[in-house]
Amino acid sequence: MDIGLDVDQKETQPDVILRADAWVNQRIERSWHWPVSQYFDTWAKYQDQPNATGIDWVRVWPFVGVHLACLGVIWVGWSSVAIAMAVFLYAIRMFAITGFYHRYFSHRTFKTSRLGQFLFAVVGNASVQRGPLWWAGHHRHHHRHSDEEEDVHSPHRDGFLWSHVLWLTTREHFSTDRKAVKDLIVYPELRFLDRFDMVVPFLLAIGLYGLGMVLEMYVPSLGTTGLQMLIWGFFISTVVLLHATCTINSLSHQFGTRRFDTSDESKNNGWLALLTFGEGWHNNHHYYPGSARQGFYWWEIDVTFYGLWVLEKLGVIWDLNAVPERVYEGSEK
Ligand SMILES: [Zn+2]
Ligand SMILES: [Zn+2]
Repeated sequence: MDIGLDVDQKETQPDVILRADAWVNQRIERSWHWPVSQYFDTWAKYQDQPNATGIDWVRVWPFVGVHLACLGVIWVGWSSVAIAMAVFLYAIRMFAITGFYHRYFSHRTFKTSRLGQFLFAVVGNASVQRGPLWWAGHHRHHHRHSDEEEDVHSPHRDGFLWSHVLWLTTREHFSTDRKAVKDLIVYPELRFLDRFDMVVPFLLAIGLYGLGMVLEMYVPSLGTTGLQMLIWGFFISTVVLLHATCTINSLSHQFGTRRFDTSDESKNNGWLALLTFGEGWHNNHHYYPGSARQGFYWWEIDVTFYGLWVLEKLGVIWDLNAVPERVYEGSEK
């Protein structure tokens, strides 16, 4: 995509941005508002500090709070509208995580416009799994060091709980691995979403609460309230979505079958593929990460790929990378 620079500038622009961001980071760390801004400005912490280790207790409490908020269901009860909203937001955001955060931002398996890219980042951001650059940076690192000593979330290195969620709570994995996403940091709109990664989730939560209030006021027969929509649509849906996504790091590197003899422990698991809209074909994916589809055969259900196929027919995305013939020839089953 033409970003309005000549060739020489294009080559150096990511490095210039990296330096400028590091400078801003140092300014924030020394500023009077750091104690407050560290909660919502991800640039306030740990840039270029690979030695920062241990659990970050300041940023852990919102993570724990989102889980505890699900208990609010005891007081708000349920309604079919609230449950339908939770299911809808699970589906749309799971598709965004696998189709956009994973297959687009992390692996660039298809192309889209700059507007499309921004909208994909916003919907992915609404999944409350940090910003697109953070997600892609850590995921690319996982592929480079899968199940090796350096892997950020290998169940074979640090056990199930670490690979599932604990790695998310640590200082060393809090920052975006910017050097791993030099192709993406040239877009200021992506850097904004990555820096203030709670803005979109916050707006979603407020919107759900407001929608519930409107329904309570104008269609009381539905039995829905603002708090009920907030608990089901935001908190419960988000927590289930998070743990479903995390199974690909924890379970699909342990349970399933292996079609390809990859250097890691990745497995194909049909149950996880259903839960995660196609990500469970993880051994396929580790063998050939460059394909837009992860179910390599018609019987390997890959809901995300069906969605991407529709977006391609609508002209929203194009140039989807296919699975090369040589991959099928090398298949063991
Ligand atoms: Zn993996
Ligand atoms: Zn991947």
